Amino acid sequence: MTHNIIVCESVQAVRAAVSALKLRGKKVGFVPTMGYLHEGHVSLVRLAAKTCDAVVASIFVNPTQFNDPKDLEAYPRDIPRDLQLLEQAGTAAVFLPTPAMMYGSQFESWVELQKLPLQHEGAHRPGHFRGVSTVVAMLFNAVQPDAAVFGEKDFQQLRIIEQMVTDLHFPIQIVRGPLVRESDGLAMSSRNVRLSAEARQRALSISKGLFAAEAAYKKGERSAEVLCALVQEKLKNNTEKVEYVHLVEESTLNLISNCGNMPCRLLVAAFVGGVRLIDNIRLN
Ligand code: AMP
Repeated sequence: MTHNIIVCESVQAVRAAVSALKLRGKKVGFVPTMGYLHEGHVSLVRLAAKTCDAVVASIFVNPTQFNDPKDLEAYPRDIPRDLQLLEQAGTAAVFLPTPAMMYGSQFESWVELQKLPLQHEGAHRPGHFRGVSTVVAMLFNAVQPDAAVFGEKDFQQLRIIEQMVTDLHFPIQIVRGPLVRESDGLAMSSRNVRLSAEARQRALSISKGLFAAEAAYKKGERSAEVLCALVQEKLKNNTEKVEYVHLVEESTLNLISNCGNMPCRLLVAAFVGGVRLIDNIRLN
């Protein structure tokens, strides 16, 4: 099958593609991904298309953000299918870098935030966010988009990118894409294909727990202890290990004991059937 989408296999090629779009007066929106795309990724492409005039995506399974080599090896990949999905969604160009291209043999320039990466995901995945912020900075410099879309599925990552763009004065608007779920509530993730049918059923306990907490919040419950216990209750007999259930303030991601009137989020990470899953919900 022929693709109208421009496939860029070098920094030079993606810069040329983006320059050509900008020369035609187009505002360029960027959607970075690790591939094995699903409807969640496609929703970000659509949001980028709505916010901008042309969309550029990237597919790169970034080795430096995997703290577990087995997780990196098991990460699902299907570039031909991804290209088809991106093209159907109206993506103008896709950047497909290789690890060797991104990380030169003498590489030593890391981007590391001081506070936002310390808790939640960062506490359980040492070095993960250093890999994320570094690769996103590199991708921003390679692609040079006007805007970039990140999903709320990875809420801590989204906050870290927003802070990095502010701190380092990247001239890039960061757009938040809402979390997309399967019809039964499971947060879409490339890792879901690694769940057995039985584990997938148990994985529903995560969204069920978050929805239970949301229902309680809507009835006026504000205590972290009570809201987190509602999630833990659902996870108890369905997950092998719960890494965290945290109630946090939305901007700093600091743990809070009571929501009060602040916008806040419940963040969850748990292992189901040997797969590490994360999810979150906004309480406001
Ligand atoms: P990934 O390929 O997992 O690195 O994700 C690439 C982008 O897609 C990130 O900005 C994610 O937050 C976003 N994303 C992944 N899953 C979802 C989802 N279920 N809903 C919305 N965005 C998502």
